[in-house]
Amino acid sequence: MNDLTTTAERAIATTTDSTSATDDAPVLFLQRIDRVYRQGTGRLEILRGAELAIWSGQSVALVAPSGAGKSTLLHVAGLLEHPDSGEVYVDKVATSRLSDSERTRIRRLEIGFVYQFHHLLPEFSALENVMLPQMIRGLARNEARSRAEELLSYLGLRERFTHRPAELSGGEQQRVAIARAVANAPRILLADEPTGNLDPNTAEHVFNALTQLVRASGLAMIVATHNMDIAARMDRRVTLRDGQVVES
Ligand code: ADP
Ligand code: MG
Repeated sequence: MNDLTTTAERAIATTTDSTSATDDAPVLFLQRIDRVYRQGTGRLEILRGAELAIWSGQSVALVAPSGAGKSTLLHVAGLLEHPDSGEVYVDKVATSRLSDSERTRIRRLEIGFVYQFHHLLPEFSALENVMLPQMIRGLARNEARSRAEELLSYLGLRERFTHRPAELSGGEQQRVAIARAVANAPRILLADEPTGNLDPNTAEHVFNALTQLVRASGLAMIVATHNMDIAARMDRRVTLRDGQVVES
């Protein structure tokens, strides 16, 4: 491990620790979440009283069949979708009572997302893709750049700063997406089948990058995945049964 690695770890850890209380409260708590999709006259009850608590530094695998509601759960957890009832606590803050702009602020600062497809901006370089969320947050260009360089180096992409997404392999694209997701040092990382699009070796690589970050930073992470090898190595495994979260 080189100096950059240590710096990146410190950068992530410092920002994360400064906001985290050292009590036993979960950093994310989904309380009795209901989520119903209405289709014409029908009702699709995807989440029914779903509960999940997750603590800093913990990684949780969410393994359930397609259509079970994994993405729905992550969208609710990430404040992208409102539940029909129930509460999402981020750091003990009940988010349903917040205004949209306050929720957006929490989402930007506290929550990072990684999707199955990288969703990087095609016309920007790897470096710029990781700088942008930081600049949106208000960081100066130089600061954003140096943190982006640290993160990308940490994820083994030191030689890829100026590459655009189309000039990167699938695994490299996902590692840039991970760097972007943690660029603002969130407390929570939500990953929706992040390796679903990759061959097993590359998936392994990307997953190792994720777990390394969780360890270095005290992030809490939920990963929806079908990859049992990956799930087996996370701190906890949960599934969805009849709309509820069940430890497995
Ligand atoms: P998973 O990620 O586990 O595959 P999803 O959470 O994406 O499952 O979807 C759960 C179920 O909810 C699926 O049957 C899906 O068709 C349905 N669904 C998801 N989003 C919507 C929506 N916006 N409107 C109606 N039905 C939806
Ligand atoms: Mg899904």
